[in-house]
Amino acid sequence: MVPLPKRKVSKARRNNRRAHHALPPIHLVECPHCHQKRRPHTVCPHCGYYKDEQVIEVEPEE
Ligand SMILES: [Zn+2]
Repeated sequence: MVPLPKRKVSKARRNNRRAHHALPPIHLVECPHCHQKRRPHTVCPHCGYYKDEQVIEVEPEE
């Protein structure tokens, strides 16, 4: 026996399977220092602060 599918998967069955493939929206919280949106538990990419302390230098964007 050759390990191949017996039948072509129909468009409906294929699309139904892929209906679960969408990625969830990423969660964003407001930075308490600069009040811009950032991901939780991360150093703020806008001001470089984490827990009331500057931990990285951030180049000011023009
Ligand atoms: Zn910030």
